[in-house]
Amino acid sequence: MKLYNSYTLKTEEFKPIEEGKVSMYVCGPTVYNHAHIGNARPIVVFDTLRRTFEALGYKVKFVSNFTDVDDKIINKALEEGVSEKEIAERYIKAYNEVRSSLNIIPVDVTPRVTETMKEIIDFIDVLVKNGSAYVVDGDVYFSVEADEKYGELSHQKLEDLNAGARVETNDQKRNPQDFALWKKTDKGIKWDSPWGEGRPGWHTECVVMIGKEFNHGLIDIHGGGKDLKFPHHENEMAQSECANGHHLANYWVHNGMLETKGGKMSKSLGNTQWAKDVIAQNGANLVRWFLLSGKYRDSLIYDDETFAAAKTELSKIETALKQAEVKAQIANAELGNEYDETKYQEFIDQMADDLNTPNAYMVIFDTLKLLNQALRVKEIDFKAVGKEYNAIEKMLEILGIFIDRTVLSDEDRQIYKNWNEAKANKDFETADKYRSQLIEKGIL
Ligand SMILES: [Zn+2]
Repeated sequence: MKLYNSYTLKTEEFKPIEEGKVSMYVCGPTVYNHAHIGNARPIVVFDTLRRTFEALGYKVKFVSNFTDVDDKIINKALEEGVSEKEIAERYIKAYNEVRSSLNIIPVDVTPRVTETMKEIIDFIDVLVKNGSAYVVDGDVYFSVEADEKYGELSHQKLEDLNAGARVETNDQKRNPQDFALWKKTDKGIKWDSPWGEGRPGWHTECVVMIGKEFNHGLIDIHGGGKDLKFPHHENEMAQSECANGHHLANYWVHNGMLETKGGKMSKSLGNTQWAKDVIAQNGANLVRWFLLSGKYRDSLIYDDETFAAAKTELSKIETALKQAEVKAQIANAELGNEYDETKYQEFIDQMADDLNTPNAYMVIFDTLKLLNQALRVKEIDFKAVGKEYNAIEKMLEILGIFIDRTVLSDEDRQIYKNWNEAKANKDFETADKYRSQLIEKGIL
């Protein structure tokens, strides 16, 4: 497996910390609203990365958090006159529904901030005590100057960052890049701490959860959207360096954004759709096929045109698979379990090349060509058909795409036979009648 490491800016051979195992953490959502279709991209990309590792024989532990404490959640709770817990529970449930409707392999652990509070407070305490963080009037800030390598993940120098920094009215911070680990609060949900009542800052939760779920707080892969690289991931990494004295992750994997032709997609711009609606309208298979149609690191344009193109591609595959199923059943033949190992290996090689899905798609279409050729001959060899058919099914499984098999009833078979007979007798009117029936039933 080769992965592009956004920390070294190089595509590297993947070397796991522990032989045969992959430890992976992906930043999860702040649960104050539904996930939009752009949020579905990392869900699908990292699930596909997991599936690829598993196809290569690795055992994967995948952890992704829920940020269930945040200003946005507190404000929404106040707005609706309900508890923060109620808001968080509602959108965690909605997020889990999006995951399962997208055929996601269940994430192994989904820690929540509210359930990690003791560990978060202990962690901040370590940073305060070793001088990497400081307390100002009930707030705790991380001192970026404590990490001499600060900026190394996003390849920026602290002095450049500060030169471009806005002068803030809040002059409690020693450096403009310092960030809150603990916030004193008089509004909404809060916890007791050595520094007074408050709640943790966003940047500190992931590093604590990684420490809790994985030994020594070092993982193979830390994932998330490109928009999280700075400052969120930079800040996670800095805390790890200062608290644990080592890196947080060996590989940083960032997915590109889903964009509209007009640019970035975001809730505030109002140019987005809820993931649940797009999935309900189009099905998981099409949404996954679309989201994986571009290289995961690049931006992907989401509009009617690109979505329609994905739909055409997927339906070509569905049509050929269905044809194979129907023809095999009519001939009382089996498609067996054998698969085209050469094609399958070509596909895996592309997926193992930093998840090169565009090239992997080309392998699927090559195999589809072979399937169609095998179906087009007069005396169909169903063993040959089955080999290509099964290879395609195995490839789609790694993309998390599962196409229902068509099972013919006795009635269906009869109509099909009648259709063939009418064609053989050159009775085209009758043949057309049966053909329409088969189309209506979705068999043709
Ligand atoms: Zn995070």
